[in-house]
Amino acid sequence: MTLPLPPLREVIARHGLSASKALGQNFLFDERLLDRIAAVPGPLEGRHVLEVGPGPGGLTRALLRAGAHVTAIEMDRRCMPALAEVEEAFPGRLRVIQGDALKIDPATLFDGPYAVVANLPYNVGTALFTGWLSGEAWPPQWTSLTLMFQEEVARRIVSAPDTSAYGRLAVLAQWRSRAKLAMKVHRSAFTPPPKVMSAIVHVEPAEVPAGVSMRMLERVTEAAFGQRRKMLRQSLKGLPGALEALATLGIDAQRRAETLTVAEFVALARVLS
Ligand code: SAM
Repeated sequence: MTLPLPPLREVIARHGLSASKALGQNFLFDERLLDRIAAVPGPLEGRHVLEVGPGPGGLTRALLRAGAHVTAIEMDRRCMPALAEVEEAFPGRLRVIQGDALKIDPATLFDGPYAVVANLPYNVGTALFTGWLSGEAWPPQWTSLTLMFQEEVARRIVSAPDTSAYGRLAVLAQWRSRAKLAMKVHRSAFTPPPKVMSAIVHVEPAEVPAGVSMRMLERVTEAAFGQRRKMLRQSLKGLPGALEALATLGIDAQRRAETLTVAEFVALARVLS
């Protein structure tokens, strides 16, 4: 049995939650949109969810309506009273932690698997995203990542070879995960509206290719995309064994980084690992 909650706009006004630019605050109020976002990870009934940056709690409410047990990390102290009201309305299903998500290890918060859902500021979101994807242990403890990004960043994450968006982020997101663009979100959906469009990316762990170290894959993509306009024989020159590895794999050294498939990067890292 849940108690009714006041509309978010009223909550914001009552608690004086003017959006802070420094904290990258752009709030979502449309319940139907929030329910659609909460549906992206699939059925949440009884599942554990880590939400980063709940703000006044719009997405948090949607996740709770979907039946999840939510642990939310929010940096802004001013949001605590509003989140306490949400906690009261969904007894025993919301745990709020006040702090910086970049400094909290989620492994200390969960015993078992959890899904991540977040609408975060761009810089924090990208830092957390690459951190979650770079863990040594695979499959990771998280079962999926459902994250709001600027549309341009979302496109880079899901991009295919031979496109200008394709780069290190795509390889990182795709070499042992499935990444898809789940939905676009118009800038006018936010208060205040950001300058650019947004999109939600959904990532699920996939099988890890054998014999490849994450560290080596990072080195290869860093070198290759560090000089993306150059041919591989130039950009990979400084990486010991890389030119021989290209020859072994039959990859033409005259190609440029953005033409290599994720599987080709993986094969290259495997030979070098
Ligand atoms: N989830 C809410 C929504 O969709 O309406 C708020 C989204 S707003 C774009 C981002 C939220 O992340 C803000 O509430 C902000 O205070 C919070 N935040 C920013 N940096 C953070 C950090 N390092 N750790 C935790 N929360 C952070």
